[in-house]
Amino acid sequence: MHKAIFMDRDGTVSEEIGYMYDTGLYKPFPWTGPAIRKINESGMKAVLITNQSGIERGYFPESLVHEVHDLLRAELARHNAKLDAVYFCPHHPETGCDCRKPRPGLLLRAQQELGIDLAHSYMIGDRYLDVDAAHAAGARSVLVMTGNGRAEYAKYKHVALQPHLIAENLLDAVELIISGVFA
Ligand SMILES: [Mg+2]
Ligand SMILES: [Zn+2]
Repeated sequence: MHKAIFMDRDGTVSEEIGYMYDTGLYKPFPWTGPAIRKINESGMKAVLITNQSGIERGYFPESLVHEVHDLLRAELARHNAKLDAVYFCPHHPETGCDCRKPRPGLLLRAQQELGIDLAHSYMIGDRYLDVDAAHAAGARSVLVMTGNGRAEYAKYKHVALQPHLIAENLLDAVELIISGVFA
């Protein structure tokens, strides 16, 4: 069984810019390569988990999502870093699929396909739907203050399900996890 660090995409590994209808808009944060390299060196799996409902909404084709992920992989390669897997939900919210966060379907698929020990894994995201997906899967959650993180925290800091940890950004989150803050 492997441990994993699951990461949301928009607002967590890259700038939040709304619906990503043009690959030219895609911008990983400058600390994303170093952060994912640290995950790789830790022996944990680095897995991207992203809602891309723009596909089923008809805002952009699925091929564009793959192009964006190719750009991300190229940026990571410049830092000798890599993703072990990418999972995305293409569905419209009204489809009622089991894979759109806050549902845990993508995390459960990763558990099955990659042999992940969810109870010793982490989900890093900038929204409470990431926090909720982590709770639903039995993983630990980290809310970052990039993307929508600060606004989400201001809005939801009193709801019942809270992140296990708050971090400034992806690199901060990864360093805290690897330092054994949860141990
Ligand atoms: Mg996000
Ligand atoms: Zn889905």
